[in-house]
Parts: sequence; structure tokens; C-alpha cells
Amino acid sequence: MPWSELERMFLVSGFSLLDRSGDRGLLPRNEKRETRKRGGASAAIVAVLLLLLLVSAPSAEEKQLSIYGPQMSYSLPVSEHNKQEYIALLAALEPFGNVSAGVDGEKWKLSFNNLEAEFRRDSNRGKVAGRRFGLPAPFVLEGNRGLVPLRALPGILGLMLATKTEYHEAARRLFLGGAATHFTTDVREGGLSVNFSAPVNPLISTEPGRLKMTFTRDPVVSSAYILRLENPLVSAITFSENNGRAELVVQGRVPLLAQFAAGGKTIDLVPAPSQAQSAPPAAAPGTATAAVSVPPPPTLQSLAAKPPFVVMLDAGHGGDDRGALLSETLAEKAVTLALARRLRSELQSYGLSAVMSRDADVTVPVEQRAAMADAARVTVYVSLHAASLGRGVRVYTAMINSASAKPGGFVPWDAAQAGYVLSSRALADIVKAELGKHEIPSSKLSAPVKPLNNVAAAAIAIEIAPSGADVGSVNAAGYQQRIATAVAEAIVVGRARVEAER
Ligand SMILES: [Zn+2]
Repeated sequence: MPWSELERMFLVSGFSLLDRSGDRGLLPRNEKRETRKRGGASAAIVAVLLLLLLVSAPSAEEKQLSIYGPQMSYSLPVSEHNKQEYIALLAALEPFGNVSAGVDGEKWKLSFNNLEAEFRRDSNRGKVAGRRFGLPAPFVLEGNRGLVPLRALPGILGLMLATKTEYHEAARRLFLGGAATHFTTDVREGGLSVNFSAPVNPLISTEPGRLKMTFTRDPVVSSAYILRLENPLVSAITFSENNGRAELVVQGRVPLLAQFAAGGKTIDLVPAPSQAQSAPPAAAPGTATAAVSVPPPPTLQSLAAKPPFVVMLDAGHGGDDRGALLSETLAEKAVTLALARRLRSELQSYGLSAVMSRDADVTVPVEQRAAMADAARVTVYVSLHAASLGRGVRVYTAMINSASAKPGGFVPWDAAQAGYVLSSRALADIVKAELGKHEIPSSKLSAPVKPLNNVAAAAIAIEIAPSGADVGSVNAAGYQQRIATAVAEAIVVGRARVEAER
């Protein structure tokens, strides 16, 4: 079953519940028609051709929060104090009106329009708009700057602006007053259209096999999903959000070109004309290419070389090390290799690179496996094991405390994982969620599984147990395939999250 319930639901909504109905209520009919006409007449097709250009997010990235209001959106830096995330309250309110703040002894007072907020250095208690307000962590005063725990900001802004807030905590995206841009996809033989409920201006980048739209200013929302397609041009579409932005990634079977249409409310993806890297694309019937322009260029930082995204699949045991004897004839080492190969071909179907620690029945010492992963500078490491006890899949992460990695600093071998354990856990959560969508029971554990501590990448171990009473099911093609599909989808969906912490 290639599609989970959620994906099928998305398919249905993608084809029938057109979001255009959503803004019909907001815009008067005439105005709306005019907008359409303008979009069609000027045929403002904005074309982007960034073929063969490797553009990715900056590697050691600052944490940011994006706030989306009905009229405007902006991003703010997030700082850390005592392992908690904080945000400057004055900066968060500034775009909405007159705001000022001052220090009075240990107190910090902020005025915003006719409202006040008051907090005290190192105290969890304060007042917001005439009400008592408890903070989940102590207020921080840095000079005249008052910092509140990020988790308290939705509540504070809700009171100060008297508006509804919706906070996507894991992705640090805060939506005010119901701000949201929805989209639907329309897949055809000749291409794919993404239709948005409001104009958007994503940063578009391409890599071999994928085209990525990054939305930082646009409140584009959807549940995280992956949609696999049988389309001759597009093999999959994924939506994810992370660090104050959303990403829509299209996996192409051919090089794709993005064209903006309908005043920025539609992005059409069509096959890129061959050998036409500098020439404008051929115009579709009824459109003009006079207004060919390119969205904001990627920053210099984002163009800096970054190691490619590579997944290492480590089939446990092998050669002299048989692993567990699952049944009289079934050795763990054979099961892990079969599963690793299935997972490799799943990842390759998404255009991702996968390397194997072994691709035959050979002995590879466990430390050597971690050393191989580190030497290859892989982004994700997946160790595979099998067991006869229990049901479903167990997903392990290292038993190690997280540490902020010092860039360029010396990292002890035993603690190589410390700087990555948060992204490892996030990946394990995503793997668990994807397994659930494929109706495979799973559990998530921290355990001293070798060699996870020695891997300098997002690292998980996956141990598969039988699907039912028959131990032989761990080696059944159908069962392994479902697991491989779910894990590959998790890696595709979790890619942005994992890359953000490299
Ligand atoms: Zn094992």
C-alpha cells in the first residue's frame, strides 16, 4: 500500500477542495475577478532556471522564529539561556505599533499602544495586559532588553494583540489572526501546478533530481506529508517545516522549471527545455514570457559548498558475526543485509544517495562502521538489526547527553554523537510516525547501541521484530518492504530537520 490514509486524504483534498473557495469569502467578487484578469493578461510568468546549481540552506544555521500576521510577516533570532529558547519581546511587538520598554530596578516594563506588560529579572511571574502571567522559565534581562521564553510568546502576543494565535512549536512558526496560506497540487501529464490561496514568493533552488521551494515570509501551511506519484515527470512531493520556514520539495524524474503565474498564486512546474540554461523557457500557449525575472537570488552563504546529503545504511553483523539466530535457519546478518538493500533502493527512488557499510556477507568490526560513516561525512546513519522477540520495529537513539558542538573543535570519539543527538531523536520520532502511517507498530528508545555514540551524524538504529507469531516474517519481502518504504519516507520528510543541525 504505497499511500497511507493521510496521503490519500491529501490526494482527495488536492483534487476536489480547491482552496480558491477559501478566499472567495475574503475578496469581493469584482475585485477577485480583476485580480485574476490582471494575472492572466500580463501573464506574469516568472521563470527560474537554476539547473545544476547546488543551492542549499546554510549549514550552521541560527535559530529563528517566524511570525505571520494577517498583513505582514517577519523573522526574529532566537537565543538560548539555561538551555531554554528566548525571544526579545519588544522586537516581537514592534511591527504592530508603538512599543517602548524601560528598566526600573529589577523590573522591566513594556508599553504597547495602551497596554502594558511587566516582568521581573529571574522571575517566572509577570503581568500582561492587566492579567497575571506565568512564564515557563524565568524572565531574562540583558541590559535593557527583556527576553521571554519562546514558549510564552504566543500567549503574550495573544493578549497584547487580542488575537488568535497558532504556534507550530517544533518549527518555530507563529501564526496570528488565522494567517495561513493553503495550497493544492494539480498533477497532469505535462507537469504539476501548485495553487496557493494567496500570492507567494518562495526561494526556489534546484539540485539534481529535486526542486525545493522555501517559504520564510509566506504563511504556507499543511500537515507534513509525502505524496508519491506515478507521474512521468514528478515522483514525489513532500511538505515539511523547520526553523521558521516551510519547504515544499518536488522530486523530479526530469529537470524541472518553475514558472510563477496568476500573480504569484500559482507555481507551474514543467520540464526544463534541454540545453537552454540561459534561454527563457518556451511560452505555453496563451502566455507571454516578456516579464521573465528571477526571485531573490540565494545568499552567498547559501551558495557555500556543503557536503551532499548521504545516508549510510549499516547492515548489522555479517561474515564471522552471525548476529542472533532468529530461527534454526535464519541468521540476523542475512535479514539486516536484505533490509539494507531494500532501504537503499527506496532511498535511491527519491534521488537520495545511500552508501552501505557492507553489501555482502563479510565481517566488518563495529568501530569500523562508525569510522566509515564519519569519514564519508554522511548526514544520516541507520544501523539495522533484527530480533525474534516482540512485534514491529524498535527505533533506538544513542544514550548520550546533547552537547552544543563547538565548530572546528576537537570532538572525542566516544562523544561524537553528542552534537547530533537532538536531530537523531527528531529523526527517530519521524521514523516512528511514518511507521505508524504504514500500520507497523513501533517503539522509540534510548540505548547504548554500538556504534551510535561514535557517529558524527543523525544516527538511529532500527531493530525489526516479527510482524506476528511467525518469526520468519522478519525476512518476508512484503513486511521488509513496508518497513523500508516507511523509513525512506521518514528520511525524506526529516531531511530539512537533520540538515539544519549539521
Ligand atoms: Zn543485532
